[in-house]
Amino acid sequence: MIQPEELFKKVTAHAKEYGFVFQSSEIYDGLSAVYDYGQNGSELKNNIKAYWWQAMVQLNENIVGIDSAIFMHPKVWKASGHVDGFSDPMIDNKDSKKRYRADQLLEEQIEKYQKKGKTDKAEQLEADMNEALNDNNLARLLDLIVAHEIVCPISGTRNWTEVRQFNLMFSTQMGSVADDADTVYLRPETAQGIFVNFLNVQKTGRMKIPFGIAQIGKAFRNEIIARQFIMRMREFEQMEMQFFVRPGTEEQWYAHWKKARLQWHLSLGTPAEKYRYHDHVKLAHYANAAVDIEFEFPFGFKEVEGIHSRSDFDLKQHQDFSGKKMQYFDPEINQNYIPYVIETSIGLDRMFLLTMCNAYKEEEVGEGDKIETRVVLALPPQLAPIKVAIFPLTKKDGLPEKARQIMDELKLSFKCHYEEKDAIGKRYRRHDAIGTPFCVTVDHESLENDTVTIRHRDSMVQERVSVKDLHSIIDQQVSMSSLLKKLL
Ligand code: ATP
Repeated sequence: MIQPEELFKKVTAHAKEYGFVFQSSEIYDGLSAVYDYGQNGSELKNNIKAYWWQAMVQLNENIVGIDSAIFMHPKVWKASGHVDGFSDPMIDNKDSKKRYRADQLLEEQIEKYQKKGKTDKAEQLEADMNEALNDNNLARLLDLIVAHEIVCPISGTRNWTEVRQFNLMFSTQMGSVADDADTVYLRPETAQGIFVNFLNVQKTGRMKIPFGIAQIGKAFRNEIIARQFIMRMREFEQMEMQFFVRPGTEEQWYAHWKKARLQWHLSLGTPAEKYRYHDHVKLAHYANAAVDIEFEFPFGFKEVEGIHSRSDFDLKQHQDFSGKKMQYFDPEINQNYIPYVIETSIGLDRMFLLTMCNAYKEEEVGEGDKIETRVVLALPPQLAPIKVAIFPLTKKDGLPEKARQIMDELKLSFKCHYEEKDAIGKRYRRHDAIGTPFCVTVDHESLENDTVTIRHRDSMVQERVSVKDLHSIIDQQVSMSSLLKKLL
């Protein structure tokens, strides 16, 4: 059994060693909290996206997808509240020159109290912190940091600056001449691209409420402290769906999406005890309800997805700021109204990390003095970067040609990989480590009777099958429809 801290280190190292995730600009010593996905990582990521997209826009007749631009009119971010309110309270330690989020320093202190059994102190500090955050009282946050004797983990001192608000949006200039350039932002969420296209999609798609608009895309946040690998990045990807409903029906739809989204997670075979809901007690002023779906990462339960009942806040704001009506005429009740919105928002990179943490296994295999450890990524076969590896037993006697012939057929349907180097056992191990569900070996018998050995990743069982049956054996396990069926 791998201990949680050890598991996280192993997953991070494995992700790099096997071409899943690289530090951005690594040859220049990297760029903080920015990552690149490698040859296997981008396949895995694409498969997660495909499953989410199909579960949204293919299974639901009343959900359509869009792909809006990263740059948007600057007023969008005024209307959404991001220019004025999308900030975190920041504090610097004057000795170490390190920057922290004041609320995170306090949260860590609360955790420390809890671990030491000082429940009263923990509860009091939590209440004080929430009050200060709600009142936007930055001086009070500093008072709490001082009163609870919180020290900088680097310098060990309490030499703090004041607490200031730090806006998380990245900005840049748009326009050819610097003088008349407008400040534009890199979007901090994909949702606003959906809201501003609400009428376009509703009208051109003749959508009837209730309906949803889904989108997958990059988002950017200048996180004060980014850590835990791809958990908190400055450039990341979101998969969001805004579901527009008749006012008064939001509670029912919120309950629906809360359940449906957890079901999507569980359909991937993750043990249910690894997930939990975390209902928000303190709500934004416009929200009626909000919940996080949390997963037990090796560093504890953390948010992967948020489901929010947002009332008509966003569309109303855009109506006020743009002067354009954001209304829907509901023929069933013969009324115009601004729809209410239920949002589901999941971080693709967090989902990727979750999938890797869940899949990474070390197993003892073999017998007697030949026991060895095999590292296997037990990924859901539908998400695996490579679906089938094809090996000729040797490099001669026409076996490579036969193997290539099989591959040419299978590659029309599945991502395949051909390998002829090293002993078969070694080739199996390499594919176990990247989660390939099937390995097919072509030997001399294959030339005689058109059969091959297919080896299953998890059980390591090998069976002799006819080449003509390969497609259906593989397809049954790797096709997305086997996952989608679980959602019906
Ligand atoms: P957190 O509290 O962890 O900062 P959040 O509540 O600000 O997250 P949302 O604005 O609700 O997050 O964004 C929706 C989802 O986007 C989150 O559930 C998370 O999976 C993902 N996400 C948010 N910020 C980041 C980030 N910096 N890096 C990677 N994923 C992120």
